[in-house]
Amino acid sequence: MATGWNFHELYLWHDNGNAALFYQPGLVIEPGEHAENANTKRRFRNLIEVSGLSEKLVAIRSEPVTEDDLALFHDRDYIRRVRARSKEHGDRGYSTPYGKGSYEIACLAAGGTSSLMDAVLKGEVDNGYALVRPPGHHAERGRGLGFCLFGNVPVAILKNRLRHKFGRVATVDWDVHHGNGTQSAFYSDPSVLTISIHQEGLYPHDSGRLEERGEGEGKGYNINIPLPAGCGHGAYIAAFERVVLPVLRRYRPDLIVVPSGFDASAADPLGRMMLHSETYREMTHMLMDAAAELCGGRLVMSHEGGYSAAYVPYCGLAVLEQLSGIRTEIDDPFLAGFVAYPGQELRPHQEAAIQQAAELVDAIA
Ligand SMILES: [Zn+2]
Repeated sequence: MATGWNFHELYLWHDNGNAALFYQPGLVIEPGEHAENANTKRRFRNLIEVSGLSEKLVAIRSEPVTEDDLALFHDRDYIRRVRARSKEHGDRGYSTPYGKGSYEIACLAAGGTSSLMDAVLKGEVDNGYALVRPPGHHAERGRGLGFCLFGNVPVAILKNRLRHKFGRVATVDWDVHHGNGTQSAFYSDPSVLTISIHQEGLYPHDSGRLEERGEGEGKGYNINIPLPAGCGHGAYIAAFERVVLPVLRRYRPDLIVVPSGFDASAADPLGRMMLHSETYREMTHMLMDAAAELCGGRLVMSHEGGYSAAYVPYCGLAVLEQLSGIRTEIDDPFLAGFVAYPGQELRPHQEAAIQQAAELVDAIA
């Protein structure tokens, strides 16, 4: 089995400035570090290297996407505005700050995801992970949102659809926040089924509801699984078994793509869930089984959120070990503690939320 791995040093040079979590400093907020900083990603990359896994993965080069590629999803006005500001000083807006050169770096990030997808579709690798930055799943057609400038996954799907004749794609977004950007990109498109499992009402506050099911020909092909805060391993595994996997089996995609955030982990400062590395390993395992059954194992992951610099690397290592079938000698030092948290098992109110989402499965044709 060959697993692709995309990373570029420039991903870490995207500069979203000084902040306390995500608020800019001022007279009442002491300067600090932005939640979406390079450290989480750097330490993830470093652990993959220290574990010895990186030399067993197939390095996928980042080929930057062009303005025309971005325009498959985004408005030209928006693209050009980001490019112009990035050439000067960037933009210090609240939701998606960026610095000088961030346009080129964002093109490289969308390009890394796209190149990995291309390699999987060509059969050069079986599956893979693109550790890109800035993230993409909140970016909408005409605006950046939630630390995301451009939709890495939508742009990669739309670009690859032009050069590979594949039919259906399913995205499974396990970031703790709603994948609103990916949802919006394919809301009326039945050839891309979008699934998002996330903490209810977290971000964006007004999206990610069960009732958002797609429109027009795409009606029924958007599945949101909003879960109450406090869910652990049991709730996520149940949501996969009862909703995600049945949806995939009914839809029968030719490719599965995961916008992958590790902010549903027990250590995350922005999410209020309790997952640990074994949950991510198990979810990856289940998606690999589904991909093997449905689409020749074709599974592409593109990095999104995850804000615990200490813990993201161990979740990422578990996913990469599972994808590649190679178990390294590094054990997750946090695992026993997180597994012991009360409430890791499925609770009745969580089951009720999952049951509501499971009722959407039958609408998939
Ligand atoms: Zn997130």
